[in-house]
This record gives sequence, C-alpha cells and structure tokens, in this order.
Amino acid sequence: MRKLRVVQIGSLDVSIFLVTRKELEALVPTKKDECLYGYSDPLNGKIYLVDEGHITSLEDTYLHEIIHVLMEVSGLRGVFRALAKSESDAETLEESVVRGLAPVLLRTLKNAGFKTPSLRGRK
Ligand SMILES: [Zn+2]
Repeated sequence: MRKLRVVQIGSLDVSIFLVTRKELEALVPTKKDECLYGYSDPLNGKIYLVDEGHITSLEDTYLHEIIHVLMEVSGLRGVFRALAKSESDAETLEESVVRGLAPVLLRTLKNAGFKTPSLRGRK
C-alpha cells in the first residue's frame, strides 16, 4: 500500500492510497463475484485505488471514488437514501449515477483543458 496524496474534498481531507487487489480485498468485504477497482471510505477520509498497471483505468477509478466522496460531502447521498426504499437500493442508485457520470466527466474535463493528475508519479 502506498499513500499517493491527500486531497481536500469539500470539508474532508481524504488520503489516496494505491493498493494491490489482495490488499483491497483484505480491507473491504466484497460480495461473491464482485470485482472492486477502488473503494471510498469518506467517514475515515480514505480512498483506495487498485493499481494494476493501466493508467487510464486508474484515472477512471480515481475520479469514480472522488465522486462517491462528493456524494457524501454534498449531501446527495442523503437524497439517494430519501428516494430509495432501502439502504441497498440507495447504494445501487448512487453507484448507477457515479458509473454513468465518472467516465463522461473525465473525458469532458480533459477536453476542456483540465490537467490530468499525476498517478504513480508519472502521467
Ligand atoms: Zn462505485
């Protein structure tokens, strides 16, 4: 596990860690057949990213997990909970929104000239 940086997301200081798949599976209880590429833990100020050597998928996962934290700090997670019938439905709803938004947002930000963050110390 390697600490990449600390990012301020809203009022939270969030530490970003690069981890192996084994390290992530030890940290996060996964469901059978679930394949996680990252995990965000806003309450403890942590984001874990599985580094499997693909910089583009690492960027996607990085933004994906940042958006999950944004859902928490912006109060949108509470909106999903209010709209959903259960905690599980709220998580599914949030996951659908984040999965739809993250890749489009990443391409749009790049096209608009936003700088891509350095991950693993290179671009
Ligand atoms: Zn997600």
